[in-house]
Amino acid sequence: MTDLFSKFDPLIELRTNLLSAGQTDPFGMVMEKVLSPTVAICNGRETILLGTYNYMGMTFDPDVIASGKKALEEFGAGTTGSRVLNGTYVGHRAVEEALCDFYGMKHAMVFSTGYQANLGIISTVAGKGDYIVLDIDSHASIWDGCKLGDAEVVPFKHNDIEAMEKRLKRIPEGAGKLVILEGVYSMLGDIAPLKEMIRVAKENGAMVLVDEAHSMGFIGPNGRGVAEDQGCLDDVDFVIGTFSKSVGTVGGFCVSNHPKFEILRLVCRPYVFTASLPPSVVATACTSIRKLMHAGDKRAHLWENSKTLHKGLKDAGFQLGTDEPQSAIISVIMPDLERGAAMWEALLNEGLYVNLARPPATPANMTLLRCSLCAEHTAEQVRTIIGMFKRAGAAAGILG
Ligand code: PMP
Repeated sequence: MTDLFSKFDPLIELRTNLLSAGQTDPFGMVMEKVLSPTVAICNGRETILLGTYNYMGMTFDPDVIASGKKALEEFGAGTTGSRVLNGTYVGHRAVEEALCDFYGMKHAMVFSTGYQANLGIISTVAGKGDYIVLDIDSHASIWDGCKLGDAEVVPFKHNDIEAMEKRLKRIPEGAGKLVILEGVYSMLGDIAPLKEMIRVAKENGAMVLVDEAHSMGFIGPNGRGVAEDQGCLDDVDFVIGTFSKSVGTVGGFCVSNHPKFEILRLVCRPYVFTASLPPSVVATACTSIRKLMHAGDKRAHLWENSKTLHKGLKDAGFQLGTDEPQSAIISVIMPDLERGAAMWEALLNEGLYVNLARPPATPANMTLLRCSLCAEHTAEQVRTIIGMFKRAGAAAGILG
């Protein structure tokens, strides 16, 4: 018998070596208590959270919590059913209406996660004989959506407009084409030149899907994302998003103006063949999305936080994922996994949680300490964070 687990041996060895040296497991963190969007108790001590994607701090918003409690009382703990059977409650309709209002689009379809939204929309709209042209640094859920469908998949170099155009021009005449882009790329925190890319995609007869998971609520005058910010949202055929970041709960969605969009509810397998979100979750999402429409002050504060942290870390001598802050994600590039893990632990000992990211999630085999800022981080917390980085960087031998 071949042990089907033998393919994991290299990873098991890597992990064993790392942990046997006494390293705290960076992928086994437990939040013992969560005090606010920016502070939790981890390993028995108060820890500043800088790796949660909780960009707008909506997890503890009193209105959001109240609407969740109310729905839990009135509709029960779960729907126990698919959206196309017994799993569509008034709350699911309400959150889809909120999404239409938020984006100014005609249609919205809610999935149980953002992962499933990508899986479902991509695999359903791009099928056999169609072509998907996508950025090589696309999120795992995008790649998995491509795998689930039967389309030909053609990747191009990250954010490279010319490379994308070349791929598009090679596609046989008459074939269906879907270009997939992200607003913010979550590993380095850089944004896409969407306006130009979408123009080229349209010129070449492609439909366009943009994953705005990391920009919703924050980027753009109304928080609609990078496409709104660059003035090209009207040219996007499908916007994919998630409730697990700025919205502060869990779930995923697609919004679109396509006149035939509603048919997807019947043919999209990751929508049909799974239970819908619990009523409390859609109620919290709905309240949160409606509040995010009027969150200009929070957006401005989050930009301040992003700029301050970026400058503080750059001035301290860290190598960052972007020259300028482009989003609420600031990535610190580590020389290798061992030193990255050591730095991660030194930060934890300081009382700071960030994400340690490594391949295959990261581009170019990089080890990253990924920081995601929150609109609820105070200016003082951001100053404290910079001090923690400086001390940990010295302790872990990252800074000279
Ligand atoms: N798209 C992108 C770009 C993401 O980063 C993520 C999650 N990190 C998802 C989709 C999936 O979102 P969810 O957590 O709702 O499954």
